[in-house]
Amino acid sequence: MKNTFYINTKLIGLIGHPIRHSYSPFIHNVAFQINELDYIYLPFDVIPDNLESALKGMVSLDIQGFNVTVPHKEKIIDLLDELSEEAAIIGAVNTVLNDHGKLKGYNTDVHGIIETLNPYKDEIADSCISIIGAGGAARALIFTLIRHFKPKEILIINRTEQRAHTLQNYFSEKMKFENFTVKELFPPDLVDDLKKSKLVVNATSIGMHPQVKDTPINIKESFTKDQIVFDMVYNPTETQFLKLAKESGATVLTGLTMLVHQAAHAYELWTGEKLPVAEVSRSLELVLSK
Ligand code: NAP
Repeated sequence: MKNTFYINTKLIGLIGHPIRHSYSPFIHNVAFQINELDYIYLPFDVIPDNLESALKGMVSLDIQGFNVTVPHKEKIIDLLDELSEEAAIIGAVNTVLNDHGKLKGYNTDVHGIIETLNPYKDEIADSCISIIGAGGAARALIFTLIRHFKPKEILIINRTEQRAHTLQNYFSEKMKFENFTVKELFPPDLVDDLKKSKLVVNATSIGMHPQVKDTPINIKESFTKDQIVFDMVYNPTETQFLKLAKESGATVLTGLTMLVHQAAHAYELWTGEKLPVAEVSRSLELVLSK
């Protein structure tokens, strides 16, 4: 890893709280090194009370851009100068570009989701989809599905049912999609709903390291061989949820493609260069397998 930085080295940041779990510094710094770009990516642990002053600091220090993670993805919106159309509809930002002092917000999770699901576009079109989770990742997913994959029905399943209703109401109004159903996350009651879904997505943090034995759905009969099952959790790469779906013969998609491609879009916004996806993915898999 390069360890010498010069007067022209450009700084990219990450703000969140906590941020120790993030692999974004690894992804971007590996990519800068491969592409021989004079950039460095650093994480900043910013508590919610300091969000506004942190943004002023970013502009004052002429930081080129930054990623945004939990808990700032939604709150940051009111503090930015401009939003991409996608970020404005989703209501969450994960990437900011500092354009000569003007902060513009994007949601690049959309691009990660498109790259993950595009090979299955025809199967997903006009089908029933179940989404487990109702946080920021679920918001980006619902936007992307409606905009790019034209599903027939979307079932939103969440521990806190009210939060799922909020998403239903929000997207019914914003995107004029009416075919939503909402259910509480209680696996024994969900077997039939899940079985008839062409695509099932875990958009919760259940099963993420170190709670690797946890799974949002623990009933194997909820899955079939005709399904596509996608877990947004990327650490571990193969979660308990995906293991169960795989046992039923389903096609399983890990969170790694989304992770690398959301980063690739942000990287391009900041540097104008392409992120070396294949090399970065290989390095990431190696690190995650340790
Ligand atoms: P978030 O806004 O904090 O939402 C968390 C969601 O998980 C909520 O629906 C929450 O339910 C649910 N949840 C958390 N712990 C739970 C538990 N013990 N039991 C039941 N439900 C639980 O987080 P987010 O930004 O949407 O992220 C969700 C996951 O997606 C994370 O694992 C994140 O790493 C992953 N992600 C991956 C990528 C990628 O590139 N692969 C990108 C973005 C996010 P309640 O509403 O009931 O609290």
